[in-house]
Amino acid sequence: MREEHMAKELEERTVLVIPCSGIGKVHGLLSREAAYLVTDELASSKTDTICLALLVKGDEEAVEAVRTHACITIDGCPKACAQKNVEMAGGRVAKAFQAAEAFKAHRGAKPGSASALTEEGWLIARDIAGAVACEATGIARDGEAIQ
Ligand code: SF4
Repeated sequence: MREEHMAKELEERTVLVIPCSGIGKVHGLLSREAAYLVTDELASSKTDTICLALLVKGDEEAVEAVRTHACITIDGCPKACAQKNVEMAGGRVAKAFQAAEAFKAHRGAKPGSASALTEEGWLIARDIAGAVACEATGIARDGEAIQ
């Protein structure tokens, strides 16, 4: 969770957008940048994020957050670390996205490296973010996935 997000009290209908913590490959960076696009720009009033590592180590506040808010995970690859860790913490994943899936609509694209996205990479990140924001907005509005 970014520092400013940690200080913010989560509202009841806030949807948590949780990216995996993949490093070393562009997929993890895509999932993180897509999450920040959603929480900082596209659906900032309806979403927030938490640090996956806090969940993995069993941080009480993080575990409580995923148990009481709808979660959307964005994983880099099919290993689905964010989705699995939210589920293991007792949270309910309302929708799971994978950056690798988004590549299918961008065949041949060169998204960049583990540390920097190219223009094509930002296009993919924006595609993912748009789909996540759309989902989060629906959940926040309808409240269907809120526990
Ligand atoms: S989902 Fe894939 S890219 Fe993300 S942390 Fe797990 S293994 Fe790494």
